[in-house]
Amino acid sequence: MGSIDWSGRVVPFPQELVSAYRAEGLWGTLPIAAEFRAVAERHPARDAVVTAEGRLTFAELDEQADRVAAGLARLGLEPGERVLFQVTNRLLAVVAWYGVLKAGLIPVCTLAVHRAHEIGDIAERTDASAHLVEAGTKGFDLVSFAEGQQAARPALRHLLTLGASPDQAGVRIEDLGQDLDAATARHTVDAIQRAIDPDEVAVFQLSGGTTGVPKVIPRLHAEYWYNARAYAAAWGWDENTRNGHLIPLIHNAGIVCGLHGPHSVGGTLILTSPDLTEALPLLADSGVTDVLLGHGHYNAIRSPEFAALAPTLRRVVLSGAKVPLPIFERIEELGMWSGQLFGMGEGFFAVTPLDAPREARLTTVGTGISPADTFAVLAPGTDDEVADGEVGELCCAGPYTLHGYFDAADHNRAAFSSTGFFRTGDLVSVQTYGGARYLSVEGRLKDVINRGGEKINAEEVEVLLLRHPDIVSAAVVAMPDERLGERSCAYLVGRGGPLALVEIQAHLDGLGVAKFKWPERLEWIEELPKTAVGKVDKKRLHAEIAARVEIERGRPA
Ligand code: AMP
Repeated sequence: MGSIDWSGRVVPFPQELVSAYRAEGLWGTLPIAAEFRAVAERHPARDAVVTAEGRLTFAELDEQADRVAAGLARLGLEPGERVLFQVTNRLLAVVAWYGVLKAGLIPVCTLAVHRAHEIGDIAERTDASAHLVEAGTKGFDLVSFAEGQQAARPALRHLLTLGASPDQAGVRIEDLGQDLDAATARHTVDAIQRAIDPDEVAVFQLSGGTTGVPKVIPRLHAEYWYNARAYAAAWGWDENTRNGHLIPLIHNAGIVCGLHGPHSVGGTLILTSPDLTEALPLLADSGVTDVLLGHGHYNAIRSPEFAALAPTLRRVVLSGAKVPLPIFERIEELGMWSGQLFGMGEGFFAVTPLDAPREARLTTVGTGISPADTFAVLAPGTDDEVADGEVGELCCAGPYTLHGYFDAADHNRAAFSSTGFFRTGDLVSVQTYGGARYLSVEGRLKDVINRGGEKINAEEVEVLLLRHPDIVSAAVVAMPDERLGERSCAYLVGRGGPLALVEIQAHLDGLGVAKFKWPERLEWIEELPKTAVGKVDKKRLHAEIAARVEIERGRPA
């Protein structure tokens, strides 16, 4: 046990790098759950997590997660098996996360908004054997959905629920290990954890941004915990940090910035839904010191409820889109410090250094969080570096950046430069302030739409649209949106007359596609424009829809 045979499906970090990262004190020697235990023993009485539903100290969370783990083991789930997560930002989601890790199982970070199309594909590709869903989510019954998935997929042996009533299907996380005493549960966990190699896969994340179907990212125990420690260190966090998190927890930013980051130093996660009427009062009542806000929440900064956080809130981290000057200035007026975050499930994170000059805080996403992060800005499709100030593709490597997607040998060949840098698909330029180099995000090469942080893979949706009998060709592009940053617009060529948006959405719904991927606007045209080399000219379509949206808002470009 402990060493799972992934039969070449996971690309390991080269051994010499692993040794160097350990020698430099970056990677630890424990699996994530054991790292968490060590922190819980140092800070037993401190709040580990605070939510609107209640709070847990480190000791309480540790003990509850032990019981869940022992219960999972008793169900017959063996270390290394995969568990799909479809839960929202709930207290029990945190218990389940550590419980699954303590049982040596591998969480797969699917989203609560995923449907049959996504879950079927990811369950298959990760050979998942359990499916954890939350009961009572608004507008969609995930428990019945999971029952359907289980019926169609015998490999999904276990249906686990969170927040369900006792008469609903599945095994309730709340009930797991309840009959065990704490010492017995802990003993089971310790035995499992001792057998786990810290260089093995701990978590499967989903890639937000590659061309084609979303890829699976293997995150290893030592590097993933290090990612969180480096993030916490970049902000100077310690056990007094109380970090607010409003965006999905079971997402890379949620796990690294929201959960593991504060926990790696004994700090607190204040976990809330994205709904500001719940979030802002909870942050105020809980003494929030730090908060991460995605683009969808930038406007909240103008509200009086946000200003009410001023007595305790020291740092505001903004992420996902360029920071508008009025927002930046408002944060200054409130006496808070603001910085930015750029990060990805594949690894690399950049944040604003605490001593960065004002201009760098406003206009750039900072620099790598680890002293061992390296990056190069390459002319797209080449291995040639561009000069500072020029735009190129961000390519990076380092102690927590992947060496290959899971089970994707062909894709991996194109995903790395000849010198081993991961090609992020993001366009950046290096800006210099006071002699220091900072990254500025300038756009992207990859064909994705960033809808308030959720990434939509254009090609994936186009293939699904083409399954409609009346659609001849399709091109999905980003259109600007004030709140979410971007939404998706489909340019379509039809066989007959134009179809209504609801018909297209019903088509995608029928294919089990998550709603956030459905186009929100259609443009029917005679033919898709092509570039000189015969590819669909998406740049032109994007420019066209952006200009049209501006005109409709009464602000011609
Ligand atoms: P994910 O893996 O879902 O976290 O998505 C990572 C991608 O989100 C990056 O490769 C970027 O394309 C985008 N992204 C992350 N942070 C920022 C940011 N601060 N500004 C613009 N885009 C960002």
